[in-house]
Amino acid sequence: MSSSRPLRVAIVGAGPAGIYAADILSKTDVEVSIDLFERLPVPFGLVRYGVAPDHPRIKQIIVALHKVLARGDVRLLANVDYGVDLKLDDLRQFYDAVIFSTGSIRDAALPIEGIDLPGSFGAADFVSWYDGHPDVPRTWPLEAREVAVLGAGNVALDVARILAKHADDLLPTEIPDNVYAGLKASPVTDVHVFARRGPAQA
Ligand SMILES: Cc1cc2nc3c(=O)[nH]c(=O)nc-3n(C[C@H](O)[C@H](O)[C@H](O)COP(=O)(O)OP(=O)(O)OC[C@H]3O[C@@H](n4cnc5c(N)ncnc54)[C@H](O)[C@@H]3O)c2cc1C
Repeated sequence: MSSSRPLRVAIVGAGPAGIYAADILSKTDVEVSIDLFERLPVPFGLVRYGVAPDHPRIKQIIVALHKVLARGDVRLLANVDYGVDLKLDDLRQFYDAVIFSTGSIRDAALPIEGIDLPGSFGAADFVSWYDGHPDVPRTWPLEAREVAVLGAGNVALDVARILAKHADDLLPTEIPDNVYAGLKASPVTDVHVFARRGPAQA
């Protein structure tokens, strides 16, 4: 790298990992020029589209992330899908280094017989629905009275909580209108959480 120009860094994915990487890099002694590429029209990744709407304190991290982007020394280029609009060769041509921080948006495949039967869904899609992710349909088939949630991690409990809550209790949150309407009309009465081990390991 020539010392006469800043180190050019491309960061792919504007979730917390990408934005914190940009923040830390720009606070080092090295002079850097950072471009942050994001597939969606908006930044903040799963903090925006994963964390449940009734966890506003956790969503507050967006304020800190926003400050990094508002400073003006990190350039956000949204609506750019790495692998479609941009390939590694393109980035290599213009940048000295590339950081990938694209997260993990897909469900892990569950090796259970019948997992693909109608009425069986992965949490990533359901969570994307209730958080208003632009990739998923606006309506969700909430037709069941009883729902089984497999797993007892934080996402499982988010899903169970959202299903069990009265829709009106979510009104003070940033819940999208279509999600409020869907949950309000939902006939669900019982949510069963299935865990491999006990509450101590939840
Ligand atoms: C349902 C759920 C609830 C959660 N709840 C909590 C919680 O309560 N508390 C907590 O601390 N954590 C929670 N988490 C975890 C937290 O959201 C993640 O750990 C965190 O968002 C991961 O940050 P990241 O930057 O690695 O990835 P992401 O947040 O996934 O960000 C990755 C970004 O990369 C972009 N991207 C992906 N592919 C491309 C591409 N090809 N080109 C350009 N951009 C791309 C994505 O659009 C996204 O904006 C939750 C996660 C989920 C799924």
